[in-house]
Amino acid sequence: MTSLDVRAASPAQDRGAPRAHPDVHHWIDGQPVAGGGRFLDVVNPSTGAVISRVPLGGAAEVEQAVAAAQRAHPAWAATPIKERVQVFYRYKTLLECHLAELGALITEEHGKIKSEAEAEILKAIELTEFACSLPQIVVGEVMEVSRGVECRLERHPLGVVASINPFNFPSMVPHWTFPNAIALGNAFILKPSEQVPLSAGRIAELLREAGLPDGIFNVVHGGREAAEAILDHPGIEAVSFVGSTAVAKEVYRRGTAALKRVLALGGAKNHVIVMPDADPEMAAGGVLAAMSGCTGQRCMAASVMVAVSATDHIVERLAAQARTMVAGRDVGPVITRQAKERIERAIGEAEQAGATVLVDGRNAVVPGREGGFWVGPTVIDGVRPEMRIAQEEVFGPVLAIVRARDLDEAIGVENASPYGNAASIFTESGGLARQVMERASAGMVGINVGVPVPREPFPFGGWNDSKFGVGDVTGRSSIEFWSKAKKITTKWNREAGTNWMAK
Ligand code: NAD
Repeated sequence: MTSLDVRAASPAQDRGAPRAHPDVHHWIDGQPVAGGGRFLDVVNPSTGAVISRVPLGGAAEVEQAVAAAQRAHPAWAATPIKERVQVFYRYKTLLECHLAELGALITEEHGKIKSEAEAEILKAIELTEFACSLPQIVVGEVMEVSRGVECRLERHPLGVVASINPFNFPSMVPHWTFPNAIALGNAFILKPSEQVPLSAGRIAELLREAGLPDGIFNVVHGGREAAEAILDHPGIEAVSFVGSTAVAKEVYRRGTAALKRVLALGGAKNHVIVMPDADPEMAAGGVLAAMSGCTGQRCMAASVMVAVSATDHIVERLAAQARTMVAGRDVGPVITRQAKERIERAIGEAEQAGATVLVDGRNAVVPGREGGFWVGPTVIDGVRPEMRIAQEEVFGPVLAIVRARDLDEAIGVENASPYGNAASIFTESGGLARQVMERASAGMVGINVGVPVPREPFPFGGWNDSKFGVGDVTGRSSIEFWSKAKKITTKWNREAGTNWMAK
């Protein structure tokens, strides 16, 4: 379950109401496998309707998946990498052919508007392209280190590896990990978020259609129990996690205690500093898109705008634009009713603490979809850094505006956050931008870019409480995480040279 909002699991029983999708199945050894035991309703957040049920797997399903992956792994690891990535060339084409269908599935299980759902698939395609390029990158190293003596470094797969995923990107976040991990020769177990389990089934089917051998990609559904079974299983060598910070810490501790490699990405509270010299259109539009895109349910969302000195004209423009945005057309719903209530409560608390709600997205209603979990874009001015709304992750379309006298004070506000995913500045001054590049305590920095997600081959990853473990999750950095280096020293020529190593 999400740590932010908890939904109750239902016992395995048919409630009689027709659902848009049959029960979700695990995917093990190239086949759908029906779940038993407890199930959780899958709800379309735009309507509140139950569209399916997901089985809450545990140790038994993880055991089955590990066994299948271990059987399949030796042959896959022995397949040359150039041959392995052929699967991903074909898979990329399948993603392109099925883009509209895959996007529609995300919209149904997650609520995202069409353009955002399809953008997620486009990003999945880009991530797959990077996996296709791995043979050009993972070429190893070789050097004559001493006369007649050669050292060579080769990359080898780890074995069976896994990822545990959050609800906010049902397709993109899984694609951060499995294409690279599998292309590098590992067998994979994916645990999707129990809140958005539908996309994973289609991913599995398309990988099979692309020619991936059975057992190399497996899906175990469930919540905490399934995740813990993955973290504890001695047959799994490495686990990547993406989710909230509280859970990321637990996952990192538990996985490393079981002597696995773990990379655990956590939550965020991203700051955007707006200087008075910023291009008003670019700054207002950029900050608004960064706070409202994906309904604020992304770890790179702009959450606090630090408006420096005379920036009222930018705040007014941003608020005016936010008022024109329509829930259901420009922003999707939030994930659950509990999330809606929590976000609306946070807005109310900020108001009670003395902040001014400039644009109020509470109680948004979408005609015809009244059962959906709607929160419209919300802009709150006069927020002080010590208020909860300025400190805690909201994970909704809410922007808290903190006023600052100068850039030093603004950077101080950013630096005080325990998180460290992203920080941005909007300015026309290269010198001011340079200061933020140097002093922001964040892994990803934007200059006139509200959502500074690095694109491949640059890796994605934050600092501080936004990430636990070494390295980043995507791009070149992922190679180190999903493989191990073998160092080979060779001497054939007895007569070669006389230095200490060649003797
Ligand atoms: P969550 O932490 O509630 O759940 C994430 C995953 O962990 C799910 O698969 C869930 O089943 C599992 N899980 C829950 N409790 C667990 C436990 N005690 N032990 C092991 N596994 C457990 O997160 P969520 O609500 O699905 O996602 C939203 C959060 O993810 C936000 O905090 C957001 O910032 C973060 N996120 C971070 C990044 C990043 O790159 N840093 C990207 C996307 C989302």
